[in-house]
Amino acid sequence: MRKLDPRIERIAEWVTGKGFSVRFRTAGGNLFFLNQRQIVINIRRSTNHILAMFLHECGHLIGATSASRRTLRRFRYGWGSTPTPDSIWRMGILSEEMEAWHLGHELAGKLKIELDEPSFERAKSRCLESYVRWASKKPLHTPAGLPIKKRSRKW
Ligand SMILES: [Zn+2]
Repeated sequence: MRKLDPRIERIAEWVTGKGFSVRFRTAGGNLFFLNQRQIVINIRRSTNHILAMFLHECGHLIGATSASRRTLRRFRYGWGSTPTPDSIWRMGILSEEMEAWHLGHELAGKLKIELDEPSFERAKSRCLESYVRWASKKPLHTPAGLPIKKRSRKW
């Protein structure tokens, strides 16, 4: 494995300090697992891209583990939530994604991590664009591409 940028190491230390583990891999996407308490990051990308995605997943961690009940309410969607065939669920996920980018960017400031802002904005807009496309598409499917059952359970 190639040597990681010290900024990436600093974020990984922060994640570990929160009681979560980090798994670096060289294929696949970047993921946040609340139940398994793990963040998975693909490091086969440019350092700027890794930093952006890693901070974004940390944004999910911050939101989903917030001490604020109001914040927790906004971070209850994600992949693990029960899909419902209405826009509340999809827009909930979309707004969660946007907030995770914001929180990740704030974390960079707190950890005194210098970012290449244009790279960060590029990664952010690319991800959000795909979510916006997904969220406005019908028939509905989950972000993972799974179809949503006609009658989903109440959540
Ligand atoms: Zn996300």
